[in-house]
Amino acid sequence: MIYEIKVNELAEEFGVHRNTIRNWINSGALPAQEGPGRRYLIQWEDYKQLCDRYGREPRISPEPSARTETIQARKEAPALAPVRLGPKTNPLYTLPTLADTCLTCGSCAGACPISGVDDLDPRKIIRMAFLGLDEELLASDWPWKCTMCGKCEIACPMNVEILQLIQRIRSRRDRDKIPPPIQKGVVTCLEKGNNLGIPKDDFLALLKELGKDLAATACPGFVTPVDVRGARLLVTINSKEPFVEPDNLTWWWKIFHAAGESWTIPSENWEGVNWGLHSGDYSAIRTVVKRIIDNIERLNCKALLLPECGHAYYATRYALERWFPESLQQFKIYTVFDLLLEYLNEGRITLNPSLHAKLTTFHDSCNYGRKSLKTFGHGYFDEARTITRTCCKNYVELIPTEEENYCCGAGGGSWASPFSAERVFHGRIKARQISESGAKVVITSCHNCKDQLGKSLNREFNLDIEVQFLWELVANSLVTTGGQTP
Ligand code: SF4
Ligand code: SF4
Repeated sequence: MIYEIKVNELAEEFGVHRNTIRNWINSGALPAQEGPGRRYLIQWEDYKQLCDRYGREPRISPEPSARTETIQARKEAPALAPVRLGPKTNPLYTLPTLADTCLTCGSCAGACPISGVDDLDPRKIIRMAFLGLDEELLASDWPWKCTMCGKCEIACPMNVEILQLIQRIRSRRDRDKIPPPIQKGVVTCLEKGNNLGIPKDDFLALLKELGKDLAATACPGFVTPVDVRGARLLVTINSKEPFVEPDNLTWWWKIFHAAGESWTIPSENWEGVNWGLHSGDYSAIRTVVKRIIDNIERLNCKALLLPECGHAYYATRYALERWFPESLQQFKIYTVFDLLLEYLNEGRITLNPSLHAKLTTFHDSCNYGRKSLKTFGHGYFDEARTITRTCCKNYVELIPTEEENYCCGAGGGSWASPFSAERVFHGRIKARQISESGAKVVITSCHNCKDQLGKSLNREFNLDIEVQFLWELVANSLVTTGGQTP
C-alpha cells in the first residue's frame, strides 16, 4: 500500500521540523521515493512504523475507499445527457452556457489521480477554456500528462465532457510540438504501414518462422495464414509484438488453431493500434482505419479482430461510427473479449482452471471499460471477468472496480511520452489497489496497461506480481487443440 506525502504535512502531523522529515528520508530511516510535485511516496507499513514510534494513531488507513454496492447504485442510476463543448472546428470554448454549467465544484479535480502535479487540474482546464485562454492551454503539457482516463468525467455532477476538451487541445497543437515518440509513431505508420516501420519482408519472414516453430511444438500442421482470401476473420496486430515480443503472437494463433478458426493476417497495413488518438490527429485515425477496411474488402473477410489495446478498439470503433458507418453493417468487429467468449460459449475451446491457483485479479483498461461505456454504450466489464474466472477460480476484485477503476497511469500515450515521473506517480493508486487486494496475478487486456503494471509499477512499488494478457491466460489454459488453421 503506497501513499503520497508532502514533507510539511508529515512534519505537522508528527510535530517535528520539516528538516527532520527530510533527514529521515535522506538517511533511509523513513524509506520514501521522490514523486512529482515535491511529494514523496511511502509504503503504508513504513508510515505505520513511524506512527508506532511516536505513539500516534495512523491518520490514513488501508481500508478500501469504495464498495461494490456504490458501483451497482451508479449503474442503476439514470444516465445524464452529456454536455458537449461545441463543434470540433471552433475554438476551444464555443458554448457560453458552459460557464454556468460547470459549477467549479472541483469534483473532477478530486477524482483525478494526477491533479495538483505540475499545476494540472481539470477544473482549471475547463475554466481556462471558458476564459478564452487557448494559447496558454495549447502551450501547456497538461494534455499529455493527463492519461485521458475519464475518472474526472464520471465524478462530474454536470456531465461536462472534459475529455473532449482535452482531446481538442491535443488536436490543435502544432504537430512539431507533440511529444516526439507519439508523433513519430503516427508519421511512421502513415508512411510505412505500421508504427515501428517494420519492413514487409522482415514481417513476413517472422510470421513464417513463428508458424514453423508452432507447428513443430504445439500445433501440428500449422502454417501462418497471410493474405488468405475468403478467410472469415481479419487479424490486425500491434506492431510492438513483432518488434519486441514476437512469441506473444502465437498465443492467439494457438487459440485460433484450437477453435478451428478461419483467419488471416494482411501482408501490408496490418497495424491495428492507432496513435492518431493520442496525438489528436483525426486525419491519421481515419487513414489507418480506412486501410483496415480496404484489407477486409480486398481479402473478402467477414469479421475483424482488433489487437490487444484499449485505445485501438476505441479509435477504430470511433472512426467506423463517425466516418464509415456502412462498414459496421458489412463486417463484424471483435474485441478480444467478444471473440474469446464466443469460442467459450460455442464450446470451440475448453479451458483448464486447475492450472492457475494463485490469487488473481483483472485490471480494466479505461478505453475498453469506462470510456467505451460512455461513448459506445457498452463497457467490457462482465466479459473480462467471465473469461478470467473461467481460468482462475481464486479471484479477487480490485476496489474500486469496473467503471470506477483507476487507470494504470500509462493511458493516452503516456507509456511512450517523456513524462515518466508523472506516469509512475499516476500509477501509485493502481499499485495500492493491487497491493490491498492481495492478488499475485493481474490479468489485463491492453499492452500499455501490461507494460505499466509489469515493467514499471511492479518494480517501483515492490508489488511482486505477475502480469498476463487475457489471451495469454486463455492460450495457456487450453486443453483442446482439435481445430485446423486454414
Ligand atoms: S466536476 Fe464538472 S462541474 Fe465540477 S468543476 Fe469539474 S467540470 Fe465543473
Ligand atoms: S482524464 Fe484522468 S488524468 Fe486526465 S484530467 Fe481527467 S482524471 Fe485527470
